[in-house]
Amino acid sequence: MAGIVVVFDFDKTIIEIDSDNWVVDELGITDLFDKLLPTMPWNSLMDRMMKELHARGKTKEEIKEVLRRAPIHERIIPAIKKAHALGCDLRIVSDANVFFIETILNHLGIKDCFSEINTNPSYFDEEGSLRISPYIDFHSSPHGCSLCPPNMCKGMIIERIQASLTNEGRKRMIYLGDGSGDFCSSLKLKEGDFMMPRKNFPIWDLICENRALLRAEIHEWTDGEELEHVLLKLIDKIDIELIEEKKNNSNNSESSVQVDFKFATIPLAPNPQRSSLVCNSYS
Ligand SMILES: [Mg+2]
Ligand SMILES: [Zn+2]
Repeated sequence: MAGIVVVFDFDKTIIEIDSDNWVVDELGITDLFDKLLPTMPWNSLMDRMMKELHARGKTKEEIKEVLRRAPIHERIIPAIKKAHALGCDLRIVSDANVFFIETILNHLGIKDCFSEINTNPSYFDEEGSLRISPYIDFHSSPHGCSLCPPNMCKGMIIERIQASLTNEGRKRMIYLGDGSGDFCSSLKLKEGDFMMPRKNFPIWDLICENRALLRAEIHEWTDGEELEHVLLKLIDKIDIELIEEKKNNSNNSESSVQVDFKFATIPLAPNPQRSSLVCNSYS
């Protein structure tokens, strides 16, 4: 299905936990993290935390070992592999960092399923400390979006992806996320796209409060099993719509010579804009 781009958030969407919190907690620096959090942006704090780990003698291999243990729902990997095998273009947009994400995806054997990972850069410096820098340099070129943290506006990334697709014919986008940082992305989705918010997570509340601002159809999910089910169902649905569109286009262009077939290929009525969102179904 070359016509479908699926964009995944990473933390609490692909993996079950937040990778930043996971590394901080598992390597025993949660107290310092909590103490410094009110004093600096999250992204800068993670860079500070990695320096702290290095000062405490934690090695790259120890961080990797923790990342490889990050919990993931058993149906997420099959869902990603299936979507990729069906020909969807899979991408990641995440406020974690390159090292964390690539380590986990390599370990899970699904890194090659993704054509693009948009996240904060990271590298090991000459002393062996992991350095994490902002996706956007907020001192020299602030993104100006009031919805997003200073280091990353996910909506800007979605717009960049949309712009890069304009020469490739009609593409439909499916976006999956759980966090408040995914709200900006959801506002950039267009009619015909699909937003898959994780139910009862921050993105869910924001969408419920601002339903009228979204143009995409909304389909919630609660866990990996439901994610797999909903995602594959939407891919199937879009596939059928794209085939119908193609058929209709070719019928229109050949209508003068194929009158006999006209009634066999009456275009399906477009699906009414429907939402499966029921906002007050939880306490
Ligand atoms: Mg997330
Ligand atoms: Zn934004």
